[in-house]
Amino acid sequence: MIRHVVLVGLSGSGKSSVALLASELLGWGLFDTDGEIERRTGRTIPDLFRSEGETRFRDIEAAVLRDALTRERVVIATGGGAVDSPEAWTPDLLGAPESLVVWLDASPDILVGRLLEQSANEGVAADRPLLASGDTLEKLTRMRERRASSYARADVVLEVSMRSAVAVSADVAELVRLARGEESLVTLRVANARSAIHIGNGARHRIADAISQRWPRARQIFIVVDGNLAPHAQPVIDAIREQSPARVNVLPVPPGEASKSMDGLAALYDWMLGCAVERGDVLVAMGGGMVGDLAGYAAATILRGIGLVQVPTTLLSMVDSSVGGKTGINHAAVKNLIGAFYQPPEVVIDPEYLSTLPIRERRSGWAEIIKHGVIEASTPGGSPPVLFDVLERNAMALSNLASPITLWVIRRNVSLKALVVEADEREAGIRAHLNFGHTIGHGIEAAGYALLHGEAVAVGMAAALAIAREMDLIDAAFEGGVRDLISAYGLPLDSDTEPDTVRVKMSADKKKADGRQRWVLPVQAGGVVLTSDVPRGSVDRAIARVTRSG
Ligand code: NAD
Repeated sequence: MIRHVVLVGLSGSGKSSVALLASELLGWGLFDTDGEIERRTGRTIPDLFRSEGETRFRDIEAAVLRDALTRERVVIATGGGAVDSPEAWTPDLLGAPESLVVWLDASPDILVGRLLEQSANEGVAADRPLLASGDTLEKLTRMRERRASSYARADVVLEVSMRSAVAVSADVAELVRLARGEESLVTLRVANARSAIHIGNGARHRIADAISQRWPRARQIFIVVDGNLAPHAQPVIDAIREQSPARVNVLPVPPGEASKSMDGLAALYDWMLGCAVERGDVLVAMGGGMVGDLAGYAAATILRGIGLVQVPTTLLSMVDSSVGGKTGINHAAVKNLIGAFYQPPEVVIDPEYLSTLPIRERRSGWAEIIKHGVIEASTPGGSPPVLFDVLERNAMALSNLASPITLWVIRRNVSLKALVVEADEREAGIRAHLNFGHTIGHGIEAAGYALLHGEAVAVGMAAALAIAREMDLIDAAFEGGVRDLISAYGLPLDSDTEPDTVRVKMSADKKKADGRQRWVLPVQAGGVVLTSDVPRGSVDRAIARVTRSG
């Protein structure tokens, strides 16, 4: 269990202000190592530095840090060099499971600007010994290079160049709460419905509670579970059976997109009607997007709608398909063509389910998350965007599903999607932004289902980037940055698909306006634009680049 959070980073990164604000948000104590050194020695840091030398100063600093790390429920702001030695990272200090270490990183030119502003505001020279003379920018740049390998051992890296201390402290406090196992609740409200989205490790143990509170008079609970998940889900199903007064019926569904079909839907209807389903009953969809879409549509349509709990168990379904109420099945000719908007009143997201998810499926989920990172600046409350930077800076930890950063990212995605859906439930406008990468992506996915949904979206994003680049909406560095991020999460940038088949499948896509294909394209300033005005040649060249002919 996390007992303290330690902020590390260079001078000017805002450690002291963020620590103060985060400690207030959490109701925790505050420990500033520099302040404590001055209090204990009765001297200022520059004075100590000058008179005792750096080695002696670092010894005092290390002792103070060791002391700080014995304390409970405290936010610790460290001096810039306090963590710059291997000894600081031993398993009983910063490497301890009780320590959550967060690196607040910013570019040296931003840091210099802040230090100058600070000294102007305070009427004194920014009192930092290592910056006392010479070219501050050059010194900070060298210092950052030297210390980067130490700082990079932090559990979480937050890029803070363009962010306020208030915003960063809110993220730090949220990370601490998630790390301590507190459940995070996101509420999505639309005209006639409300969705309570519970996120947290172990949240699955509260499914029975959520059902009995929301539907106290339900006589039957219908659990639709993905066949691959069924063995892992058994303990939770048993617990729902024990804890709930309602009769519990379970139907495992064969894994795979083929179940999301007319036949698959008919099987669900037959099962529920055979059990004499009533309007007050509840369906629980346990599985990935396939089960969520299929069972969600069954819940939306049987008896014109019964209770619905979405329990997403893939990364993709946690950050995307379980939120926002889109349900549906595939038609033989086109994916997702038949469906309904039906907000699940309860969504329970427990990332612990991801431990059994095959690696390729896990990777696939990152595509929708990267998509959210690209569109974030165009979403309500999404400016300045943070997700893209977090994905870039924590790629290794996130690929390994490290906690609490994975939980934080899931929560951020859920909030982002909830805000978009609240603004435009029926996809008349801004919700279409969520289709970034989906126009060509759907064509590729439908061209034979050889790629997973997320993989196809990744290739579709690469194609949309190529179109945007050709239309001068973004520059080469922008395109390269997003392509690098897609690759960093092990996702493909092209596929072995026939370009003509992709074109045919795309033309059947339902996301057209007035018979014209709608495109979601990234723009240099951040975020995306929605347009039907894309030259045919650009589309053809983009398809060629990401398919077999590329
Ligand atoms: P999926 O549901 O097919 O699951 C992927 C695989 O993981 C399956 O083999 C499944 O058996 C297995 N699985 C699921 N959970 C597991 C677990 N915890 N441990 C081990 N194995 C597990 O695929 P998906 O990627 O979750 O979702 C893709 C579907 O979602 C597509 O049908 C797509 O159209 C749909 N989708 C819907 C929306 C929406 O808004 N409704 C958004 C995006 C995608």
